[in-house]
Amino acid sequence: MNWLGDQETRWQPGLALGKLSRVIVTSDDRMIAVDTNGDPLLLDLDDAVFADYEPVLAGTLNDVNYYGVRGEKICSLRYEPLRPSLIQIRSAQFVPVSAAMQVLDFSREHQFCGQCGRSTSPSKSDRGRTCESCQLTQYPRISPCVIVLVTRSDEILLARAPRFVAGMYSTLAGFVEAGESAEHACHREIFEEVGVEISKPVYQGSQSWPFKHSLMLGYRAEWRFGDIRIDENEIIDAQWFKIDNLPKLPPKASISRGMIDAFVSERVN
Ligand SMILES: [Zn+2]
Repeated sequence: MNWLGDQETRWQPGLALGKLSRVIVTSDDRMIAVDTNGDPLLLDLDDAVFADYEPVLAGTLNDVNYYGVRGEKICSLRYEPLRPSLIQIRSAQFVPVSAAMQVLDFSREHQFCGQCGRSTSPSKSDRGRTCESCQLTQYPRISPCVIVLVTRSDEILLARAPRFVAGMYSTLAGFVEAGESAEHACHREIFEEVGVEISKPVYQGSQSWPFKHSLMLGYRAEWRFGDIRIDENEIIDAQWFKIDNLPKLPPKASISRGMIDAFVSERVN
């Protein structure tokens, strides 16, 4: 299953293979420059407006090389926060924007070696940053995170976190801990957050999610036993929802919504 059509299979990370080059402009506080429609602004590589910033290559999609730049806001451009802006993109730009944000984050956060503290520079042979002094090469961080659709007959278990927009409920998610399998993380996260035990989780698909560098691993699992008992440090409400009476759901571009829609469609048909 693929949440973004077939575009991801054509994405070439870290390579400039296209005939055209386009630059995604972001700011120090992780906002993104947008056009009059609210879509990401895509500028030519030689555009003078960001001449002070160093473009970082994200990759190629459909013959277009995508770069990102980051710095102080350019006063002639309009910026929007990344999350709502990106969530609305169900277009060819989702993957390039997501990738550009992550390589820009990496470049900024790994300017110095984590081992000896000296400066790093982009590796000549791959997408890492290398320390000339001790030769340590670091790569863009990717943090695996499980996201689980828990089902019980015609019901699904959804929860609300404090940061969610008003009224929205989503599937439960959490980071995989060091030394843990993704499946173990599913059992642990669901039990920790809502006190429910689940059957064997079944993998559904994955999605890169640049807040900040998550790789969402989607699973579906059936409820086994336990009543909902929420961890109030993590979530503010969790409920069983019948599939014909669902609350406000995450945006279409998200893996959470993709898994919910797929389940609903199976039960209805
Ligand atoms: Zn070093």
